[in-house]
Amino acid sequence: MRARLPSWFRQPPVDPEAMVLVEGLLNRLSLHTICESAHCPNAGDCFSRKTATFLILGNICTRNCSFCAVAKGRPLAVDDEEPEHLLAALEKLGLRYVVITSVTRDDLDDGGASHFARTVRLIHQRRPGTLVEVLIPDFRGSFEALRVVAEARPEVINHNVETVPRLYPRVRAMADYRRSVRLLSQVKDLEPGIVTKSGLMLGLGETREEVVQVMKELREARCDLLTLGQYLPPSEQHYPLSRFVTPEEFSELAATGRELGFAEVASAPLVRSSFKAAELYAKARN
Ligand code: SF4
Repeated sequence: MRARLPSWFRQPPVDPEAMVLVEGLLNRLSLHTICESAHCPNAGDCFSRKTATFLILGNICTRNCSFCAVAKGRPLAVDDEEPEHLLAALEKLGLRYVVITSVTRDDLDDGGASHFARTVRLIHQRRPGTLVEVLIPDFRGSFEALRVVAEARPEVINHNVETVPRLYPRVRAMADYRRSVRLLSQVKDLEPGIVTKSGLMLGLGETREEVVQVMKELREARCDLLTLGQYLPPSEQHYPLSRFVTPEEFSELAATGRELGFAEVASAPLVRSSFKAAELYAKARN
């Protein structure tokens, strides 16, 4: 059975009408969200505020991260209509800042980079002034795939390292910590004006020293923004929870991160990658 959540996980009440509106819109446009696919604890709150983090390139992942609730297996063909549908959803919801992520598509030659780029360009062309944050996979370390995304000039490129390197073999067996950090550095080599961002889940068994070391390495890679949140296992079959990190520990890590030079660190139990994304971006632009 799932561990009982401490009191600091209390969520605001959801707005049922807004929930129905957002869910209906997503269904009609055949769009997926990471909020639903990853069982995000903030989904009710975000949908109530008529916002969501869109999941492109389908909802089936070719990787097998043990912490993640997203379905794994053989993905469907890429939906060429998806960028248009996503644009329609933005217009309907009135979003001026959008976060777009994807499953990892190791089955595609470019890992889905051209689909990301097409989506970013379409939004900028047809809805000028909309800020786009992409939360991308590692593209198996392909510099060319990363270049395709960076040349589309999203305002933010986010790539989560998720955990400390010692835990990668058990938490992200098909990923590579060094490759992920290098990707963030390469974004700055390609397009220094793009804000970069990364994030970790805490409570998987990492030590404070390991987290601080990752922060230092992210800063060496010129990463601008950081998110830290509590890991919550989606089920008993997923990677087990080691412990709940207290709000005070999260605050202390945020202060350490700011001292290390991040433009902003969002660090609290319910923080997820897209938590207050527009506000974080504004801090990096100040
Ligand atoms: S690559 Fe991303 S979506 Fe796929 S299993 Fe890992 S965390 Fe989940």
